[in-house]
Amino acid sequence: MSITKASMLDTSALAPAAPWREHDNDSHGHVVQFYSEDRSLIETLGHFIGSALGAGDAAIVVATEAHRQGLAEELKARGVDVSSAIEQGRYVPLDAVETMAQIMLDGWPDETRFANHIGGVISRARLAAEQAKGSNGSLIIEPRVVAFGEMVALLWAEGKHPSAIRLEQLWNDLAKTHSFSLRCAYPMGGFHLQEHSEPFLKICTEHSAVIPGESYTSLKSEADRLRNISQLQQKAQALEAEIEQRKEAQESLRQREIDLRDAEQHAAMGKLAAVIAHEINNPLEVIANVFFMLRDHPSLDESARGLTRIAEEEISRVRHISNQTLAFYRESEKPISVSLNQVLDAVLDIYARPLKLHGIEVEKNYGSEREILAYPVEIRQVFVNLIGNALQAMPNGGLLRVGMHDSSETIQGSRRTGVRVNISDTGVGVPEKCRDRLFEPFVTTKAEKGTGLGLWVSRGIVQKLGGSIRFRSGKIGGKTRTSFSVFIPTGQDALESVS
Ligand code: ADP
Ligand code: MG
Repeated sequence: MSITKASMLDTSALAPAAPWREHDNDSHGHVVQFYSEDRSLIETLGHFIGSALGAGDAAIVVATEAHRQGLAEELKARGVDVSSAIEQGRYVPLDAVETMAQIMLDGWPDETRFANHIGGVISRARLAAEQAKGSNGSLIIEPRVVAFGEMVALLWAEGKHPSAIRLEQLWNDLAKTHSFSLRCAYPMGGFHLQEHSEPFLKICTEHSAVIPGESYTSLKSEADRLRNISQLQQKAQALEAEIEQRKEAQESLRQREIDLRDAEQHAAMGKLAAVIAHEINNPLEVIANVFFMLRDHPSLDESARGLTRIAEEEISRVRHISNQTLAFYRESEKPISVSLNQVLDAVLDIYARPLKLHGIEVEKNYGSEREILAYPVEIRQVFVNLIGNALQAMPNGGLLRVGMHDSSETIQGSRRTGVRVNISDTGVGVPEKCRDRLFEPFVTTKAEKGTGLGLWVSRGIVQKLGGSIRFRSGKIGGKTRTSFSVFIPTGQDALESVS
């Protein structure tokens, strides 16, 4: 098959040679050049400044000392008589740092200072070129003024990106009253961060033309340049994907660190609490028994018996706290298969009297028969705590709903099947001020009547089973409803978390 000319791709218009040399003869315009090696900058500058000086025009260079020196040598090598151009006043090399000090005010490029200082330099250089041209006896043509500035690059390197962009704008403003062809240059290495993309584009838009780095401008053929562009596109694509991946990795690392810190904190507090609980449990038992015997002791009168009853009640509270804490930290028993229906019924039984006393209606809805793998004492404690809280939230009666159904949930990135138990009440609602800290130890709104350990302990137990516990509290149809939802994985998913 022969390829017709029309079907062949003409690439010359797609990747033109960067025509930076053409800008060297502009009489106006604001061109930015990016470069990797100083050598490359000096060479292009040598051509830009050299052409102007060679033609008897004026040139202003605001550069670092190293670049001014490099440029002076380059110009000499190109046969430019630098000294007499300086003497004539049409070549003005200025130090970038010193010049910057003159145009800045309170760390910001100042419009008036800039216009006066740089505007003055440009006018004087132009006049000098005019005079030199005149004294040469040549035909007087309006001389060009070319300028190179890298104060912007210094500002950029110092991280003062808005100042650099502002200074670019001041150059553009000056071009409205003075005619000159301006070249700026930035080392490409200064744009190595992703956050540089936006200011980089801004810099480009402040210029009438952009000269890419020498890795592009040095390419000789269209084919090479197209290859280069494709390669850059591929690199950009790969980098973008990599940045995304890194971000994700960083986020998951951060989350894991938080989880780990929480788990460590939890374990340490649990251990400490268990040790204390264990130590005080035995003497507590003894004291409780002593008060039990004292309660009906014949030697006590009615008021002394009253006092022992108060003491007994308080001791029973302390025993409750200590038992709760122990239940939370139980080390090496094996988890066994537990029927949640039975556990919930047993807990409702415990609370039967106070529920009735407070006029609380109970609505059960067991939609699942699944058994879970757990420590029976612990799982019972979870519902003792949750139903106990619901009860305390409804001192004037209400509706307690205890529901259970099959469910699934994504925990730590993996989907797990299991059962969900919902305990909901129509009580006072969870106060706004402690919503964020509800599961922290000692957070209570019940003054000395509460310990603030119930939810903390419950969450610890549920998390040990690979599950989760959440709550919702708010007004629905004018009624406050609070609902605690406990998810516990079952089957294979449970084995993985419990073992
Ligand atoms: P305690 O019951 O000893 O205060 P918990 O850890 O069990 O400790 O509960 C902490 C706090 O959470 C309670 O003091 C209460 O403010 C709030 N809370 C828990 N359950 C409910 C509920 N069902 N309704 C309203 N508030 C609740
Ligand atoms: Mg409680």
